[in-house]
Amino acid sequence: MNDSAFHYVDGALHVEGVPAASLAEQFGTPLYVYSRDALTRAYRAYADACAGRKATVHVAVKANSNLAVLNVFARLGAGFDIVSSGELARVLAAGGKASNTVFSGVGKSAAEMREALEAGVKCFNVESIPELHALNEVAKSLGKKAPVSLRVNPDVDAKTHPYISTGLKSNKFGVAFGDARATYREAHDMANLDVVGIDCHIGSQITEVSPYLDAVDKLLDLVEQIESDGMSIRHVDVGGGLGITYDDETPPDIGDFVRTLLAHFEERGHGQREVYFEPGRSLVGNAGVLLTRVEYLKPGEEKNFAIVDAAMNDLARPAMYEAFHRIVPVIERKASARLYDVVGPVCESGDWLGRDRELAVEQGDLLAILSAGAYGFVMSSNYNTRARAAEIMVDGERARAVREREEVKQLFAGESILPD
Ligand SMILES: *Cc1c(COP(=O)(O)O)cnc(C)c1O
Repeated sequence: MNDSAFHYVDGALHVEGVPAASLAEQFGTPLYVYSRDALTRAYRAYADACAGRKATVHVAVKANSNLAVLNVFARLGAGFDIVSSGELARVLAAGGKASNTVFSGVGKSAAEMREALEAGVKCFNVESIPELHALNEVAKSLGKKAPVSLRVNPDVDAKTHPYISTGLKSNKFGVAFGDARATYREAHDMANLDVVGIDCHIGSQITEVSPYLDAVDKLLDLVEQIESDGMSIRHVDVGGGLGITYDDETPPDIGDFVRTLLAHFEERGHGQREVYFEPGRSLVGNAGVLLTRVEYLKPGEEKNFAIVDAAMNDLARPAMYEAFHRIVPVIERKASARLYDVVGPVCESGDWLGRDRELAVEQGDLLAILSAGAYGFVMSSNYNTRARAAEIMVDGERARAVREREEVKQLFAGESILPD
């Protein structure tokens, strides 16, 4: 376990100062548990490495949008990166500022643009020419100028899972590198747009620095061309995507990653340029676990199954990306371990959380699915009419429900039957 917020004391898993078993007793399972200390330390690693430079951290809300999580970051002075007006509403409700929020996403609606402009977001990360026109129109109707950055697709290989790689030509994201210079000229000519920056986001769970250095090189080449065309670019946004350790990955340490990138801007003669970061997973991924209880053990000829009360609707990443999450006992047993597939109760063969895991477990035991803080609860659904899990934040010796467990009657409260 690579984060001391989650550790064993005499064979019992603790989250900071609280035994995980007592959280499961008090709040039930499946249960998402976050550590305020782990969130804080990850954010500080970014912020400290940015100190003394014109560099800003915008937390990618989509990785974990719980209000308490966002509020921890807002109190630390973070900015935010949103991909919908729903996320904007969350940022504002959590104490974040629109003026320190950038709006990303490939399909912003006119209504979303209007809300974000009225709230006063810092920048729109625009991904296409039609979107530039749409934003220009909305800004005109409000008598405003919209601050824009173009998301450029630098065509670098982030060497990650195809579903989470976004910087290749074949992806739906961003303006093609070869079209970017001309697109900047078009944006510059639109009366209600104010061109302020350039951005990219090359993928997620990236465990090497080199794809970022390649992307920065390409963006800075473009910045030099755009500025020679008479426009000025205030900031370069390098996106998010830094990976975490789920299993045996060895991503760069956050501080080293930031310092290496900022040093590269200096080497390229752009040390004064403002740099934005948009981290999601690397801030929240290893700050959360999912607790689940073993309902049944089902030994078989080819496989043993541990059927648990969490499922693909609670944590979609294994089913969706064949993602690996470590699974550990909440109370360690001395008994000898067997190999299990850890699966949920949902009626799909894809409903698994871990395969071929060596575990010493009995019916009724609690397990912790690690590294579940990013793209965990936020991707959960009500498939099989399963109420979504509760979310808990631990802060030292205290634990607090930061989202109540859903109740089944809430799930169909908006539905109705035909009158006759
Ligand atoms: C998803 C996303 C991020 C965050 O990515 P992580 O891999 O979680 O760090 C940042 N920026 C944009 C535009 C995104 O879509």
